[in-house]
Amino acid sequence: MAAKDTKNIKLAKQIYDALSTEFPDSSCSLETDCPQNLAIRGILSAQCTDKRVNITARQLFDRFPDMESIASQEPEVIAEIIKPCGLTASKTKSVMAFAKKMTDEWGGVIPNDVDALMEVPGIGKKIANLIVGEVYGTPAVVVDTHCKRVMKRTGITDSEDPAKVEKDIMKAFPEAQWISIGHLSVDLGRKYCTARAPKCGECPLSSFCKRRI
Ligand code: SF4
Repeated sequence: MAAKDTKNIKLAKQIYDALSTEFPDSSCSLETDCPQNLAIRGILSAQCTDKRVNITARQLFDRFPDMESIASQEPEVIAEIIKPCGLTASKTKSVMAFAKKMTDEWGGVIPNDVDALMEVPGIGKKIANLIVGEVYGTPAVVVDTHCKRVMKRTGITDSEDPAKVEKDIMKAFPEAQWISIGHLSVDLGRKYCTARAPKCGECPLSSFCKRRI
């Protein structure tokens, strides 16, 4: 094993230990009441806050409580409801395509298969990983904006390319931590390692973070 890999494994353990102590109740910040609703929240989450997504998705599911009713609507009806999440046209297309796949092809069961999920327009690797991780517990890393920032600043990766960041995380952290390190990174990114003014002095990673030392 290369010296850099060994160093990163040690760093990953320090990060994980510190974050799981700081955020013992860390979990997905999208509501996870049922798999198909979570998938739709994932679609709505692109460039939108999880808080806004949870509120908007609740309005959508209150009105259309199953995939059949979503799939059978005119796109304008869905678009009007999900508009607060932004990127309305592409998200409407994606929500409806997902609902149609669920009803017409998948028999109402979300596939535990990242490639199959990525056939839905608008579902990329991040959302597919989120879905298989949260629904099936399949080890998968969700590299969102917080995760990318935290992993670069701490030194786990030197890249900003999500695919490379994902690979570097998978090399450094044990498989059993792939799902939770995503949630923990979000918690850190929100509380301390913010984009503009990170609170390094209070951060639980400050004694070993690459940006800090
Ligand atoms: S020490 Fe600063 S840069 Fe490093 S993870 Fe913490 S907040 Fe982010």
